[in-house]
Amino acid sequence: MPQAYEAVIGLEIHCQLATKSKLFCACSTRFGAPPNTQVCPVCLGHPGALPVANSRAIDLAIAMTLAAAGGVRQRSEFARKSYFYPDLPKGYQISQYDAPICEGGKVEFDLEGRGHAVALERIHVEEDAGKSIHGADAGADGDTLIDLNRCGVPLVEIVTRPILRSAGEVRAFLVELRRLVRWIGVGDANMEEGSLRCDANVSVRPRGSDTLGTKVELKNMNSIRFVGKAIDFEIERQIAEITGGGRVVQQTRLFDERAGRTRPMRSKEEAHDYRYFPDPDLPPIVLAPGRIEQIRAALPELPRDRAKRMAAAWSLSADEVAVLASTRDLADYFEAIAARGEAIARRAAAWVPNELLAALRSRGETVEAFPVGPGAAAELLALVEEGAISGKIAKRVFAEMIESADSARAVVERLALWRISDSAALAPIVDRVIADNPDVVASLEAGKKKSLGFLVGQIMKSTRGQADPALVHKLLEERLL
Ligand code: ADP
Ligand code: ZN
Ligand code: MG
Repeated sequence: MPQAYEAVIGLEIHCQLATKSKLFCACSTRFGAPPNTQVCPVCLGHPGALPVANSRAIDLAIAMTLAAAGGVRQRSEFARKSYFYPDLPKGYQISQYDAPICEGGKVEFDLEGRGHAVALERIHVEEDAGKSIHGADAGADGDTLIDLNRCGVPLVEIVTRPILRSAGEVRAFLVELRRLVRWIGVGDANMEEGSLRCDANVSVRPRGSDTLGTKVELKNMNSIRFVGKAIDFEIERQIAEITGGGRVVQQTRLFDERAGRTRPMRSKEEAHDYRYFPDPDLPPIVLAPGRIEQIRAALPELPRDRAKRMAAAWSLSADEVAVLASTRDLADYFEAIAARGEAIARRAAAWVPNELLAALRSRGETVEAFPVGPGAAAELLALVEEGAISGKIAKRVFAEMIESADSARAVVERLALWRISDSAALAPIVDRVIADNPDVVASLEAGKKKSLGFLVGQIMKSTRGQADPALVHKLLEERLL
């Protein structure tokens, strides 16, 4: 029965803008400060305190709009969205209503080799509210604590049209959006710290219908995986509701990550009346001639364009480029190595996703702070390419480069790890292994070719992996075959 229905999903994504100070005052936006230490009369909504818009936040919102191919409004307005909540001391949130900074736009992404484009309704600038802390985090007595540090932190809200179809599409879209936000430096898009938040509106309808079903808004998902889980649960729940003879009630539901299900938070039967009106304390945002073009000119090459160019330039597979162009730092790092030539580029296409990423992960480090730069990495890969060390030895050299910040050559020299490709140096070891293994030699002479592999292995072992395997083969064959 479920296949008789299809899901329709639209997203509202809040993304914190990477500014040092808040949207309308000079308070810091730093994450993790003690509660209520980054506040002032403006963001606390004291009577008579006047907001002044942070022009850096506007620039970032414009950059986001351009990166999403949206239309920037030359003249947009701030509006007050009035509602009561303890973590909103002004009694209204400064947002944008009928003249948002961006209209339209789209975000493209690939899923299972197919291209998708998600059309955007709008992108607008708004301030964040404070944070209410309930439950165990608030102490013993069922108190609720309020932290107003987030009040007035600048956000963009990105609203998609209701055109996504599955949790898988939503996840792929969010991964792409997060890459884009970080890539252009608009925000750090960290769902765990709340600098990226996604509310998902979900409805179902009979397959093929072109009217929309009643929607439920899902909140409280703090990872992309949980957004997917909440949506999957909700689609099933709505279909079961309808096929069981009931109907979907318009409401907001919270995702409970421990139970893996959504539960009602508040009913949203009627539209809220937020009494939007233009904020009389803030003049309209009127962009100076040339400002949009200036911001466009400062944008880096966008991730999908970069990925396409890199894939063609270095003959990368889809999997390789997905990793290598996952962040701008990584793409820059890879291309700085790849510039040394085709053979090194080939090696780097495998080395960066495996060795470099593993090292970054285990050290919890960013590419920027990593002690081994692309020049040093290129030298290491060149040593492997020349045959001066084996791939296996290279792993050891790399680990030592990270610790000592020495060059690859210096490490190989210091630890005496050069490949042994000198017959005179290798001959005595070959002779010794032959002498030590008469049974194996006998079985080889009786025609058991596999025994040769065993002898090679013994020689590699006694040279700690440094012998040139081709030379070892040759020397053994000269003596035994
Ligand atoms: P509201 O008036 O409740 O804020 P909007 O029309 O502004 O609703 O849409 C808010 C978000 O909900 C958008 O992301 C939109 O794509 C999505 N949406 C609207 N209607 C539906 C629906 N029937 N099913 C799924 N998503 C929807
Ligand atoms: Zn303030
Ligand atoms: Mg709306």
